[in-house]
Amino acid sequence: MHIIHIASELAPIAKVGGLGDVIYGLSKELVKLGHTVEIILPKYDCLHYSKLEDLKVEQLELWTIDGSQQFNNTIWSAKMENLQITLIEPHHPSYFFSRGAIYGQPDDIDRFLYFSRIALEYLHKKQKTADILHVHDWPTAIIPALYREVFYSQGLRVGGTMLTIHNLEHQGKCSPLNLNRIGLNGEQALSADRMQDPYSPTLVNILKGGIAYADHITTVSPNYLKEILTPEGGCGLHLTLQKHRNKLSGILNGIDEHFWNPEVDHHLTKEYPTHAPMDVEKFRMTLQGKAANRKHVRTHLRMDQSKKPIVTCVTRLVTQKGPHLIKHAIDRTLEKGGQFILLGSNHHSSIHDEFVSLQKKLAGNRNVAIQLDKDEALAHLIYAAADMFIIPSLFEPCGLTQMIALRYGTVPIARMTGGLVDTVFDIDTSNKPAHIRNGYTFDFPDAAGVNWALDRAITCWKTDIRKWHNLMQNGMAIDFSWRHAAPEYLAAYQKIAKMATRNHLKAAS
Ligand code: ADP
Repeated sequence: MHIIHIASELAPIAKVGGLGDVIYGLSKELVKLGHTVEIILPKYDCLHYSKLEDLKVEQLELWTIDGSQQFNNTIWSAKMENLQITLIEPHHPSYFFSRGAIYGQPDDIDRFLYFSRIALEYLHKKQKTADILHVHDWPTAIIPALYREVFYSQGLRVGGTMLTIHNLEHQGKCSPLNLNRIGLNGEQALSADRMQDPYSPTLVNILKGGIAYADHITTVSPNYLKEILTPEGGCGLHLTLQKHRNKLSGILNGIDEHFWNPEVDHHLTKEYPTHAPMDVEKFRMTLQGKAANRKHVRTHLRMDQSKKPIVTCVTRLVTQKGPHLIKHAIDRTLEKGGQFILLGSNHHSSIHDEFVSLQKKLAGNRNVAIQLDKDEALAHLIYAAADMFIIPSLFEPCGLTQMIALRYGTVPIARMTGGLVDTVFDIDTSNKPAHIRNGYTFDFPDAAGVNWALDRAITCWKTDIRKWHNLMQNGMAIDFSWRHAAPEYLAAYQKIAKMATRNHLKAAS
């Protein structure tokens, strides 16, 4: 099949969170299976250009509209590993993608609406006929509507459209006038069965438009699919999602098994085995590897070299991730005789400021390190060095960090929500078979919940080394690679393409 992703992120060149990881891992697996994959991204000034090969101008001039004006764009092509990448560089007076950041700009809606329009303009002018246009979250969710309402009548043809919801919280709400700028009819879009926001009837909801217009919608875990169909988890869109239930499916994300592999991870001081079957000798090497990385990270972060468990959290510091519970976990870990490493990113927010204060307060404490930054290399080292990884999220569509931690032999402590329910199984309370149980879990996102799980984990680490080693090995034995998810995506792609062919035949007869 020929699959084209149109997206705002791609790991590792333009990654904010899991969305970028998913497009990278899924695309690589699809290429491995013999499919053609192209990824269209904005040409951000903050892309990691050093990771791109063969970057060149593919088309110097491609004009598109923004309201009543026309603007030129340059189209670039590049390769990254086995992936074909197309980058769009607008020559627009607003310098949409020269802001040193991927999101967080006051005109994000206009930036990504413009990008969505020019991406389709490019496919149309190039007469590309993909089997699937796969779009992701609100930044590119307008594409199925743009395709049907504007570009289809101009002659662009694709097999079908798929929208993946990585996070339902962000929906892209705006005035209908924003849609007019890219050639859609904003007033017409403002109806309950199209894009009208359920809470603010004068606003358009771009993600809702994606749900209404896409041929198929996936979410990133089966359990998150169940949650978003309810009033509690639907972020206002549960009725829309229920209405389109027959085109929804939940596919558990994978992680890229080469990028996240302690056996070959060049960010580590010492690489170590993770694959099953894990015999005594291999596991001894795993323990030695983790010990070497632990020593290194402690030196690097000026922490004491002591026989204490390291609890960690690598996260964006946003409300979703339970920052108040992360703070509580730091206090509790110190109280229980452990060490804590937090690698948290999100500049320019009050949550960030709170962690800056905490960092100052704990400055002299050599059992804790708080790094307020986005640091890929340090993240890899921390996954390898730590004993436990805490994820006290208020909601978590899939969550990749627990899967990465498991692969690095680091035991997750997770709140039971979203994809965490599909991937972390409590060693003491789960009804799963013993060899699958891989962590500690808690139900309620409060201090008592954190204590219940964290205390059990620290006690086990201190008093029952055999049980602890079993936990580590159970976690490392699980295969979270894209080998499982990619065929599920392919099955959905094939279903869409078949449906689209049927519809075309019907229309022609
Ligand atoms: P989300 O997409 O909501 O941020 P996920 O768990 O799906 O959460 O994915 C998070 C990804 O981003 C993981 O690969 C994680 O290692 C990475 N990450 C999160 N915060 C940081 C950080 N501060 N520095 C480096 N990597 C980070």
